Amino acid sequence: LTTPAYDALAAAHLQQHRFEHVLNMLHWDQAVNMPAAGSEARAAALTELEAHLHRLRTDPPRSSQLSAALTEPLDDEQAANLREMRRIRQLATALPEALVARRSLASSRCEHAWRTQRPANDWAGFLPNFEEVLEIAREEAQRLADIGGVSPYDAMLDLYEPGMRTADVRQVFEPLRAWLPGLIREVVERQSQEPTIAPRGPFPVSAQRRLCERVMALLGFDFSAGRLDVSTHPFTGGSPEDVRLTTRFDEDDFLSSLMGTVHEAGHGRYEQNLPRHWLGQPVAAARSMAIHESQSLAFEMQLGGHPGFAARLAPLLAEAFGPQEAFEPGNLHRLMTRVRPSLIRVEADEVTYPAHVILRFEIERALIEGEAKAADVPELWNLGMRDLLGLDTRGNYRDGPMQDVHWPSGLFGYFPCYSLGAMYAAQWFAALRHAQPDLDEKLAKGDFSTVFQWMDDKIWSQGSRWTTRELALRASGEVLNPAHFEAHLRQRYLPALR
Ligand SMILES: [Zn+2]
Repeated sequence: LTTPAYDALAAAHLQQHRFEHVLNMLHWDQAVNMPAAGSEARAAALTELEAHLHRLRTDPPRSSQLSAALTEPLDDEQAANLREMRRIRQLATALPEALVARRSLASSRCEHAWRTQRPANDWAGFLPNFEEVLEIAREEAQRLADIGGVSPYDAMLDLYEPGMRTADVRQVFEPLRAWLPGLIREVVERQSQEPTIAPRGPFPVSAQRRLCERVMALLGFDFSAGRLDVSTHPFTGGSPEDVRLTTRFDEDDFLSSLMGTVHEAGHGRYEQNLPRHWLGQPVAAARSMAIHESQSLAFEMQLGGHPGFAARLAPLLAEAFGPQEAFEPGNLHRLMTRVRPSLIRVEADEVTYPAHVILRFEIERALIEGEAKAADVPELWNLGMRDLLGLDTRGNYRDGPMQDVHWPSGLFGYFPCYSLGAMYAAQWFAALRHAQPDLDEKLAKGDFSTVFQWMDDKIWSQGSRWTTRELALRASGEVLNPAHFEAHLRQRYLPALR
């Protein structure tokens, strides 16, 4: 039995993977190390490499190979690999090169100007650039929609979460929108009666860095195949063989860099444990952005918000910064699960976070479907923040619709993945608790190995072998079920009074 067309495709994808490796390292270097004067030459080099990758992905012989491979005797994993190859090809050929070039130019211009317009609260200056970015995104969405036979916003969602549709997102977000504001009020009221002791800084950067690395090691991050560095916006980059995490340090607040690192370590372990024997093939890649976020949030929220994690952390903090009353495990856990409505998404706790996501989902859907204009965004934003979190954002564009980099850089359809990821993370822990009833006792003792073993078996080692639906079914016995997220929040934040 021979599979010549499939073999040729596999060889081409391995080659692409190597170019992507180089591209990812250059992006990491740009964010972490690059001196300012290197930026123009780097942008040119990246554009050249991206164009080359685009030519590889759209190489004409691929089309007939993809059809021929469909009739070859493939095993299940090869068939899954072929399904992913077809998707990559379809996305690469969907947009004319002229549109891709216009998109890249408009989003670089908008994002670049946004970097100074945001601190200046300059919505009027931002609007014309943003209108252009939005117009191009609508055209992109329409073209993808025509090919996929779906609505424009569905097509944008599908870029990040294959198979997910607007109706699916609504089905989980609409009930959430109904019960979340009440839950937030109850939790804030409950917590106002639980005083906390604030840690006293400063917390030297060198001690914070050592602490972050110790915690990453505790979480099983493999330092022989990855690193931790500093960048303005934390991210996980590199490639599965060499994973690059970043964080940022604030001498007055060690918890935000530490928990940011725990979040990225979840992304990092997923990448480091993708199936090795398929490495370089699409079937070995992470399943989707919601599944990726389910891993970072399983680490940061499910595990990081557990009393067992605070207890394990407490002695490490005393070693890093000297003993403090604030590092007592109970106090530490209260600090790490503090709920407070705020204007900024990236600083939000796990209870208020979905409100930020629902707001963005509703607005970006209306923008892409042509039901709202760029100029309508501040008013929609203010109304949503008022209903969801009881906050007023009138005139405050900086901490309102201008706070995120996503829209200025042309990313529409990504935001829902954060909350879908939080829901999947709650679902994974519910399944894990069901399978291992002594889970909480183990976590209380600082033993996290059961969590890592489960994630490895059910998620990491599966790569893109299954669709997201099948992956969820196999891992937890059901497709996405938001009831687990609600149960998790109520159990953690509103337990029956002791
Ligand atoms: Zn993340």
